[in-house]
Amino acid sequence: MKRRIVVGALALLGLAATGATAQTYPNKPITMIVPFAAGGPTDVIARIVGEHMSRTLGQQIVVENVAGAGGTTGITRGARATPDGYTIMMGHMGTHGAAPALYPNLRYDPTKDFEPIGMAAGTPILIVSKKDFPATDLKSFIAVLKERGDKLNEAHAGVGSVSHTTCTMFMSQIGAKSTRVAYRGTGPALNDLVAGQVDFGCDQIVNLVQQVNAGAIKAYAIATPERSPALPNVPTTKEAGLPDYQVSAWNAVFAPKGTPKDIVARLNDALSKAIDDEATAKRLLDLGGVLPTKAERSGEWLGQFVASEVARWTPVLKAAGVKAE
Ligand code: ASP
Repeated sequence: MKRRIVVGALALLGLAATGATAQTYPNKPITMIVPFAAGGPTDVIARIVGEHMSRTLGQQIVVENVAGAGGTTGITRGARATPDGYTIMMGHMGTHGAAPALYPNLRYDPTKDFEPIGMAAGTPILIVSKKDFPATDLKSFIAVLKERGDKLNEAHAGVGSVSHTTCTMFMSQIGAKSTRVAYRGTGPALNDLVAGQVDFGCDQIVNLVQQVNAGAIKAYAIATPERSPALPNVPTTKEAGLPDYQVSAWNAVFAPKGTPKDIVARLNDALSKAIDDEATAKRLLDLGGVLPTKAERSGEWLGQFVASEVARWTPVLKAAGVKAE
C-alpha cells in the first residue's frame, strides 16, 4: 500500500515536471550549433529559420559556429549537450548521412543519438569554378580536370562534408583526381574561390546563387533532374552531358537524444511555422533552397530519412575508397 502511494506520488511529480517544462520552455535563449564557419550554407539556413523560430518561441536562438572535422566536431558537442531544449543543432547530409562511412571512431550515431526536429531545406548541388577557369561548359571543364586535375585545387569543408562527398562522387565518376584543400566551411572556401585562390568545388546552391549571378564564379551544372528557378541559366548535369551525376543535399534541425517530447514538438512547430512564413520561405527560395512539404516536416519523417541517407552514402563512399585523412 505504502509503496503504491509512493509510486503514485512519483508519477504525479513526473507529470508535474513535464507540464512545467512545456509551460515554461523556453525561458532563456536557445543555442543552435552550426558545425561550420559563419557565412556558409548551413550557417545561412540556420540564421534564416532561426530568426523566425525565435519569434514563435519568444526567445532568441543564438547561432554558435563550432567548426571542424567536416562538421562532426560541432555535432559531437551537440549530441552530448544537456537534452533540455536549450541546445539544438543544424545538421546536414554530411554530418548525418556521410560521416559514419568516413569516421570509424565517430562519437555519435546519426540514427540513435538525436531527437530529429525537422527538415529545414533541400539544397541541390552545383559544380563551380573560379571565374577565369579555362572552360566554357561542363564538358570542357571535365576535360581539363582529366588532363591536369591533380594540379588544380578543389576547395571543400572537410572530410565527410557535403562539398567533400559530392565532389568525391563527381571526380570518381569522371575518373579524375584533384588536390583537395579543406576549409572550416564553404563560406570561407567560396571567398577563396571568388578571389581565385582555389580552382573549383562542389557545393550547396544556397552558398552560390549570389556569386554565380554576379559573375564572380562559374557554374557548370546543377546535379538535379530540373534546373533551379533561382539559377535558371545553369544547365542540369543531364543537359550538360553527365546524366549519372545526380545528388542533392539538405539541412535539418536536431536536438540531443532525451530532449523532452513536448519541447521537441514546440521546436518542430516553430520550424514548420518558419517555413510557412512567406518572407522566410522567400529568403530560402531566392537562394535556391527547396522547402520541405508538409509530409516532410515531422521529426519522424526526418528520423527515417536520416537512416536512409546513412544507408545510401555508406556503400557509395566505401566504393569510392574515401577515408578520413
Ligand atoms: N556546405 C558545406 C559542406 O560542404 C558546409 C557549410 O555549410 O559551410 O558541407
